[in-house]
Amino acid sequence: MAWECEIDGCGSVFDDVEAAIIHQATEHERPECKVCGTIVPDGYLAIRHAFNEHSRAEYVRAYGASSEEVREREELLEEIESVADMELIANQLTR
Ligand SMILES: [Zn+2]
Ligand SMILES: [Zn+2]
Repeated sequence: MAWECEIDGCGSVFDDVEAAIIHQATEHERPECKVCGTIVPDGYLAIRHAFNEHSRAEYVRAYGASSEEVREREELLEEIESVADMELIANQLTR
């Protein structure tokens, strides 16, 4: 399946999820986590940071997210985690 980057209407399409995540982390400006202020790679990795490092309640408060949005992001994380090679992504990003 094709993966589309949805950051700021970017619209770039990638054949594999690793390429999409690396694109998001390197081509887009890195946002600050609204909970702890850490600069994180945008896109999937930003969501992953927020959900792994912080509680759902903190996320909802800082981002003003609805429970529907939280559920959508949880589903996205699960979907990506089941298909993405995180080691490959980490290696690409630390180069
Ligand atoms: Zn993009
Ligand atoms: Zn954070």
